[in-house]
This record gives sequence, C-alpha cells and structure tokens, in this order.
Amino acid sequence: MNDPYDVLVIGGGAAGLSATLLLARARLRVLLVDSGQQRNLPAAGVHGFVGNEGTSPADLVARGIAEVRGYGAEVIEGRVESLARDGDTFGARLADGTAVTARRVLVTTGLVDELPDHITGIAERWGRDVLHCPFCHGWEVRDQPIGIIATGAAALHQATLFTMWTDDLTLFTNDAVVPDESARELLAARGVTIVDGAVESLVIEDDRVTGIRLADGTIVPRTTVVVGPRFHARSELLQSLGVQTAELPMGMGEHVVAEADGRTSVQGVWAAGNVAIPMGQVINAAAQGQAAGLSIVADILEEANHVAIGEYRRTN
Ligand SMILES: Cc1cc2nc3c(=O)[nH]c(=O)nc-3n(C[C@H](O)[C@H](O)[C@H](O)COP(=O)(O)OP(=O)(O)OC[C@H]3O[C@@H](n4cnc5c(N)ncnc54)[C@H](O)[C@@H]3O)c2cc1C
Repeated sequence: MNDPYDVLVIGGGAAGLSATLLLARARLRVLLVDSGQQRNLPAAGVHGFVGNEGTSPADLVARGIAEVRGYGAEVIEGRVESLARDGDTFGARLADGTAVTARRVLVTTGLVDELPDHITGIAERWGRDVLHCPFCHGWEVRDQPIGIIATGAAALHQATLFTMWTDDLTLFTNDAVVPDESARELLAARGVTIVDGAVESLVIEDDRVTGIRLADGTIVPRTTVVVGPRFHARSELLQSLGVQTAELPMGMGEHVVAEADGRTSVQGVWAAGNVAIPMGQVINAAAQGQAAGLSIVADILEEANHVAIGEYRRTN
C-alpha cells in the first residue's frame, strides 16, 4: 500500500466500477474504495440497463466487484474521509486510519437524495412505493393511482410526465408550488387532478402505501407516491481539493462541475456518475465512468510518452 497507486477510485457504484474495470484491464494499478451506499439500494431491481433488466442493485455491485478483482484491481470496503494533494500524488485517509497514495484520483461518490422529511412515511417507503423516476420504476406502477407530492416547481413537469404511465394522477401542491393559469389548463387537459393544501403523512397499511393524508385530515387514496428529492452531490472530497460545484435549475440541488470525460478543474482529479451528472441513470453512470477511465489512460499515456522522449533525446 505504500507505493502510490496509478489510480484511486472513490465510490463503487456503476460509475466507479465501470471505470475500475477499464483501468484494471489497461493493466494499471487501481484501488477502489467504496462505502456501500449505492443510491438505488432501496429498490428491488435495476431497470433500463439492457442485459441486466430487474437485477437487484446489490447483485449488480457484487458482480462488478468480482469482475474488477478478476483483472487485479484492489477493492476495499471503507470510506475515504479526506483527500489532499501531496506533490505529484494525492494522499487519502480512510475512516479506519488507512492511508493510501495515488497519482490520479477519480471520484464517483454519487449523491444523497434529500427527501421531504417533514412528511411522515416518505423516507420509510423510499424506493418501494415512493418514487421519483418514471424511467426507473414507472412500468412497475403503470395504471395505478399515483399521487405526486410537490416539493418545488419540477412537480408540474413530473405530473404531466407520469401521464405516460397512468390515467389516475393527482398533484398535491403541498404549499410548495402554485400552478398558474396555463399550468392548471395543461394539467386539466392531461386529466391530472389538483389537490391544494399541505401534506402531513402517508397512510401505510399492511406494509403498503394506501393513501396521502393532508394537514386538515383528509385522506386521498393512492398506492404510489412520487416526490422530487433535492440532489445533494457527495462532493466534500472534491471541494476540499478546490473543485467547483454548481446549482441545478429549479432548486433541484447541486452537482460537481466536470468535463464530458470527467476532467475537473484540478489537474489529476476526475469525477463521474451522479456526483457530476445527477440525472444520469445506472447505464449513464457506467458510461461516464468508462469515459473518465479512458481519459485517465490518455493522460497517463501522454505523461509516459513525454518522459520517454526526454530520456531518449538525452541518450541518443
Ligand atoms: C430509489 C432509486 C431507484 C433507482 N432505480 C434505478 C433504476 O431502476 N435504473 C436506473 O438506471 N437508475 C436507477 N436509479 C438511479 C441510480 O441509482 C443512479 O443512476 C446510480 O446509482 C448512479 O451511480 P453512481 O456510481 O454515480 O453512484 P452510486 O451508485 O450512488 O454509488 C456511489 C458510491 O460511492 C460511495 N461513496 C460515497 N462517498 C464515499 C467515500 N467518501 N468513500 C468511499 N465510498 C464513498 C457510496 O457508498 C456508493 O456506494 C435509482 C435511484 C433511486 C434513488
């Protein structure tokens, strides 16, 4: 562990595993550190990842870890607490005190979905019958009575989007959004019922959501709930190195600023997956991880070429 790794990958979801696979197969010395909190773990299955349809998120990760280990990557279950530049390398310290150094770092730490925690039941049912992404789980709740609880303006878009999956839609404005006349007209045209007033809690019976309870006590029967979480990028390590974050539109959260190939404003540091692109699904995160891996290989090659030509000219 004392020699610097070629690459330290922090975060072992789709992005980090995909990058590690590419880097290990490029015969680089790679260490992946992952704290095991992939964002989709509460869900029963991964959808929309062709060839892996319905696989449990934990199984997908376990398969990925076995695959990267098969090519010689080292994988540690743990949490990187701090990251700092030290000359030509980066030093990381894990929660258990382990210190590692690496010449390049890829951060794929994902994001935290900040849920409207003042509504009782949302966190408890998250990823089961409380959802946010129709492309992930819309098919599974097709034709059901769905309630969209607004936490901001994005709920108006969610309300029309979910008409692709059901005709039985209710938008709860929840004191968080006031649809203007044109929004009300569009929602009416798409058959979406609007219920005004604050939402207090979900009604949960026999381990299922059966309704949405308003602050005035009214209960509206619904079996699926849609919310718009705030996306909090796990960007602390990157920010400690000086990488910038930027706000998403409509108060949806923030993300780390990175190029399409994962390069950040800090030399030697890449970011990929949901920490940089919060809207990306598993297949996108995997693709971004791979793009970052390719970019790192190109960077290592360029450096090696530069060093080799210098040596060659000195000796010839
Ligand atoms: C409920 C739910 C269901 C979803 N269902 C689907 C679906 O069906 N299909 C789909 O395509 N997408 C789905 N998504 C989206 C999917 O979860 C993300 O697109 C995907 O997880 C992003 O991958 P990632 O690698 O960027 O981050 P993640 O998968 O979140 O992985 C990040 C990893 O980094 C680790 N980490 C964080 N900080 C540190 C640290 N300091 N040190 C070490 N490790 C660290 C975390 O523990 C975690 O394991 C769903 C999302 C949610 C919330």
